[in-house]
Amino acid sequence: MQYYNQETLIYLNGQFVKANNAGVDLFGQSLHYGYGAFEGLRAYSTHNGTRIFKAEEHFERLQQSCKAIGLPYSWDNRELIEKTYELLEVNNLRAAYIRPLIYSGSNMHLTASDHANIMIAAWEWGPYLGQNLIKVNISKIERPNPKSFPTSAKVSGQYINSILATSDAIQKGFDEALLTDQDGFVAQASSENLFIEKDFKIYTPPLGNIFPGITRETVIAICKSLGFEIIEKRLSVKDIYEADSAFLSGTAAGIIGIKQVDNVVFPEEWEDSIGSSIQRKYKNLVLEQENYEVII
Ligand code: PMP
Repeated sequence: MQYYNQETLIYLNGQFVKANNAGVDLFGQSLHYGYGAFEGLRAYSTHNGTRIFKAEEHFERLQQSCKAIGLPYSWDNRELIEKTYELLEVNNLRAAYIRPLIYSGSNMHLTASDHANIMIAAWEWGPYLGQNLIKVNISKIERPNPKSFPTSAKVSGQYINSILATSDAIQKGFDEALLTDQDGFVAQASSENLFIEKDFKIYTPPLGNIFPGITRETVIAICKSLGFEIIEKRLSVKDIYEADSAFLSGTAAGIIGIKQVDNVVFPEEWEDSIGSSIQRKYKNLVLEQENYEVII
């Protein structure tokens, strides 16, 4: 996958520069220790023009992620959103995945940095897990313990855990991994939140041992607006195996249905599931094909 070419511009510390010419400090603390924070947003080509979905929420979370690890954040989020729209324009992108990253410079100490850099990049990217129903496994790799790490922050180093779990799942013939928390409950996927349907109700693990997805919040709001009962509850492996249907949510993946967990195939046809209705509603929402205010 090529993320940039000779013409691509990125936003770097207040300026638009060629991605080709932007270097990285090989003594950077972020590179060595994963001490950085990032976000993943999507811009959609709507009948109102290019629109970034929930931009404020994403930049607010970026700020909170930096705060959680003591990384200085000196930027004004409104200005960053303006610059992000400008970034899309200068790169001629109508729909894109957007990646802001906050990273520190030279520092080989294991102490919080007193200075940070910002870069924002964007590229065209289809749904992260494709368009078809996926197969997932329950990974042997656990989520990090929230007592050892701010797991609700989107911090670079944490994604080694995701890379290990997803790579292992793919190697075993699955598309994505579900990870358990420190107590053995199924928390979420490597980079998506998890929902199951059982007896016409939707269940999702509560905040605490999961990453607080913005798409997850949107799904909860959609459920309420459509009159589906949504219950936040810790889910055992047995709960997952006995579900009627299940799906994942995330900015990169959107809403994606799960066909199978380990060797258990869900009994309900995806098209008949509540998840499928939520998926349609979510698409309409991000494309501004219906009144956003009605739902949120
Ligand atoms: N979990 C993890 C670990 C993630 O990295 C992401 C994507 N950022 C999500 C869940 C989904 O979050 P969101 O809906 O905000 O994209």
